Amino acid sequence: MKFLNFILDVIYPNLCIGCGKEGEIICEKCLKGMRRFPFFTSGENIRAFFSPFIYDGLAREAVHLLKYEGLKVLSKPMGEEMGRLYAEKGYPVDVIVPVPLHKKRLKERGYNQAELLAREVGSFLGVPVGDFLTRERYSKPQVELSGDERRINVRGVFKACGDVCGMRILLIDDVITTGSTMEECGRALLSRGALEVYGLTFAREV
Ligand SMILES: [Zn+2]
Repeated sequence: MKFLNFILDVIYPNLCIGCGKEGEIICEKCLKGMRRFPFFTSGENIRAFFSPFIYDGLAREAVHLLKYEGLKVLSKPMGEEMGRLYAEKGYPVDVIVPVPLHKKRLKERGYNQAELLAREVGSFLGVPVGDFLTRERYSKPQVELSGDERRINVRGVFKACGDVCGMRILLIDDVITTGSTMEECGRALLSRGALEVYGLTFAREV
């Protein structure tokens, strides 16, 4: 663990990232103030995408702190919000699969934020987490690219592995923008025999 990550994890857990109040990492009031994403959509390979929040304000800040600032303790309340939404609106699944990082990026960051969220969602829903995807190619960060470029950038990047035959899978990531990353993951899983693939992210860009 990087020293800075360690410090952040130790110092911040009791202060709300929204208002600084002591107690929870995101207090109830700040959580209630975050804009909810009002519906779910379907895709080509993903039967339905679910996200509790719109990617702006504090939701954006939370993703940023989890992903780039090493504030891993955030994965618990974030994952619980995702699990709560999925328990209300989602469909039964057999396994939860995080969108993988390339080995090189995993080494740079030290952890995969999608995996941390997947673990929390898994324990909230009582569904196991499985490693059924690998990222074969190092692609540019999607954030730098337009919609069409994103689709091309992730084409063929993911490979499904292990026995996913007949499985209903819930894919987990932090944010969904155009959905191309999840669509590619879905394509890889379906082509290996998965029955259905759903997507769940903490936030969604509008
Ligand atoms: Zn607060």
